[in-house]
Amino acid sequence: MPVDKEWLKRAADIVGADGILVDPSDLESYGHDEYALQTYVQIPKAVVKPSSEEQVGRIVGLCAETGVPITPRGGGTGLSAACVSDPAGIVLSLERLNKIVEADPKNHVLTVQAGVTLEQINGAAEEIGLFFPPHPGDESAMAGGMVATNAGGARAVKYGTIKRFVLGLQVVLASGQIVDLGGTFMKASMGYSLMDLMIGSEGTLGIITRVTLALLPRPGSIQTLLAPFATVAAAIESVPAILERGTIPFAVEFVERSAIACAERLVDKSWPAHQGSASLLLMLDGPDEDLVLSQAEAIGEVLEAKGALDIFLAESRERQEEILGIRSMIYEALRPGTAELFDVCVPRSQIAGHVEFVHSLEEKYGVPLPTYGHAADGNVHTNFMRTRVEAGMLGEEIPDWPMKHEAVRGEIFDDVIRRKGIISGEHGIGLAKRDYLINNLGETNVALMRSIKKALDPRGILNPGKIFRL
Ligand SMILES: Cc1cc2nc3c(=O)[nH]c(=O)nc-3n(C[C@H](O)[C@H](O)[C@H](O)COP(=O)(O)OP(=O)(O)OC[C@H]3O[C@@H](n4cnc5c(N)ncnc54)[C@H](O)[C@@H]3O)c2cc1C
Repeated sequence: MPVDKEWLKRAADIVGADGILVDPSDLESYGHDEYALQTYVQIPKAVVKPSSEEQVGRIVGLCAETGVPITPRGGGTGLSAACVSDPAGIVLSLERLNKIVEADPKNHVLTVQAGVTLEQINGAAEEIGLFFPPHPGDESAMAGGMVATNAGGARAVKYGTIKRFVLGLQVVLASGQIVDLGGTFMKASMGYSLMDLMIGSEGTLGIITRVTLALLPRPGSIQTLLAPFATVAAAIESVPAILERGTIPFAVEFVERSAIACAERLVDKSWPAHQGSASLLLMLDGPDEDLVLSQAEAIGEVLEAKGALDIFLAESRERQEEILGIRSMIYEALRPGTAELFDVCVPRSQIAGHVEFVHSLEEKYGVPLPTYGHAADGNVHTNFMRTRVEAGMLGEEIPDWPMKHEAVRGEIFDDVIRRKGIISGEHGIGLAKRDYLINNLGETNVALMRSIKKALDPRGILNPGKIFRL
């Protein structure tokens, strides 16, 4: 059955007339995520906004009965065109499921509805004196979306990605039935972990309606170190020596000068280090200031021995926030000229080699490929630019960039696979990377994924075509 007047009336009976959008001007912003190009924009037939878990179940039940494809959407901050609807389908927006269900300081657990944003999660954790470590860069991402992409971020080196913090999920299955997976316990040896199957499934196996998250005690002190290096390879090669000392910083970011220059211009602030062609940004946390400062000092000595041109310790909170503010605006600054932001992940020992390879492509194809990333967990972000980048400014468009884009993407992914890495460390596959998945995982793995999809969603109504073609 198509999404026609009758279908919309049945949906409105479930969520109320104000929970349905059909006006083209309202649908436009639900036709895409933050993937840089327009390639995958798809305006849905309608957007449906349930306001309770039970309403989600009934809408999915209606879709199951009528064969209407359904794409769940959280904050729409994804970067792989994964929350884009099927042409005949609807977007199910979780934005009205925005309640903190329970904050439990005794068990260090927070349960939220799927539409609660990362910013709200951080606030709720702080209110009970606790801390939610995962931090993908855009705080308007929502709990359900972060779980469905297994979001990472800069703090993964010490704390891991979001899957380490998911204790329980409430999920609406393709039939409309609601199930609880996991709970508030720290261990489980209970057969197949259905909960883990949902993490990173990009809305293709079930609709997440509630998330129970583990929290940690708040660190008493945070210190930020910044070290410029002559080359990006020198910066990255110092990382193993830092980790061998036994202190794991919670963030170890490498950034190239050309990318920083764009962010400096955008926020009108100055990065403390202008020497060299790359910087290493390290953040340390711990229970008290003396301890963290002594760790920072010891890491500073390692950085110096490894060729750092200078070392800055940002002691005040304002200075730390200024540095982080510039780092977090790199993507925003490059975005107007970006065709795609890659998020490959290679073994740590392969980062420098991969970045060197990326630079060889800059020369081969004559396109800027500003690169930065998480130096200690192997997650490398390269921006494929369709414009020139000069002195912190985006310049003219590169005439034949679409062909070069395809070629560079293929070469980057091939290099990653040669290095035993993966094509997505944190953003997910969506539509943007689905045709490359089989090369990376092999046919057997993708066939297993297809059979799991078939078992959980026999009619193929849940976010069809994402991750792999059906
Ligand atoms: C400036 C910027 C910085 C970023 N930095 C990072 C970073 O450092 N690390 C990182 O990992 N990501 C980063 N991202 C990407 C993005 O924020 C993450 O992928 C985030 O987890 C997406 O959450 P969302 O709620 O916006 O999901 P959406 O974009 O709405 O959806 C993403 C996927 O999840 C599915 N989905 C959404 N909600 C549900 C649900 N309730 N149930 C089932 N499936 C659902 C969608 O169908 C889609 O497949 C960044 C994005 C931007 C714009």
